[in-house]
Amino acid sequence: MTQAPPARTASLPAQIPIREIIPWAVFALVVGLLLIYFVGAEQGATSLFGGNLIHEFTHDGRHLLGFPCH
Ligand SMILES: [Zn+2]
Repeated sequence: MTQAPPARTASLPAQIPIREIIPWAVFALVVGLLLIYFVGAEQGATSLFGGNLIHEFTHDGRHLLGFPCH
């Protein structure tokens, strides 16, 4: 006696919850842009803070990412 082959069920791809992801994606984008600004452009022509504190704090990251420095 032979058994019937197992019934095939259609598998659907996992749905991506776009509405749940969008706020976090926007948040990550804003934080990322702020980090890039502070590492790459702060203490330049668009400086928000006086002095060299932020420049010195992010100096290694600036060189690592190839931003012009000195
Ligand atoms: Zn430098």
